[in-house]
Amino acid sequence: SEKTGLAHISSGDLFRENIGKNTDLGKKAKEYVDQGLLVPDEITITMIMDRLSRPDTERGFMLDGFPRTMQQAKALDEVLANGGRTIDRAVYIRVSTDELVNRLAGRWTCSKCQAIYHEVNQPPKQAGVCDNCGSTLAQRDDDKPGPIRKRIEVQLANLEPLVEYYRGRGRLVEIDGAGDPDAVTRELERSLEG
Ligand code: AMP
Repeated sequence: SEKTGLAHISSGDLFRENIGKNTDLGKKAKEYVDQGLLVPDEITITMIMDRLSRPDTERGFMLDGFPRTMQQAKALDEVLANGGRTIDRAVYIRVSTDELVNRLAGRWTCSKCQAIYHEVNQPPKQAGVCDNCGSTLAQRDDDKPGPIRKRIEVQLANLEPLVEYYRGRGRLVEIDGAGDPDAVTRELERSLEG
């Protein structure tokens, strides 16, 4: 997003922002997010479509964590088609389930600037403190073992049809996510250039 200047739109960030501010949307989403369940399509689709109507998406955008169901993918295509737009690429970063659990369980996020660390793979210089801004690091509630397992189970169940949907339209880009962040970033950038 920094390199292309395209808006980065993360459905999870939007939910956490709304939950933090205790908005109506946040109140509706909280019980699902806390348990590691998908927020119902109707709520999620409305939130993303609302975000996509803002002017900073006119030049293009990068969605992160959306779509996660076929209903979301189809709603997205429909709305974009109405505005003469389309999804150019769908990036699938492949990571084994064991490695996903390891990455999520060790993740710490800065409560202020949202920088992300991992207690083993990418530790901050001082434990619990953000290198960038000195604020306190926190663990997401849904990065606890119970919700982590639930999230992976629920999300993998929905993944295959989505992958096939974008593969069938010639839009799918597959990346090996097993490497370190720099290696994955390089592969991602290469794959998006072509
Ligand atoms: P994430 O930050 O992508 O890990 O998402 C955190 C949580 O937000 C998920 O576990 C879901 O509860 C909810 N969420 C994020 N994106 C979606 C989506 N596309 N559809 C339904 N729920 C979502």
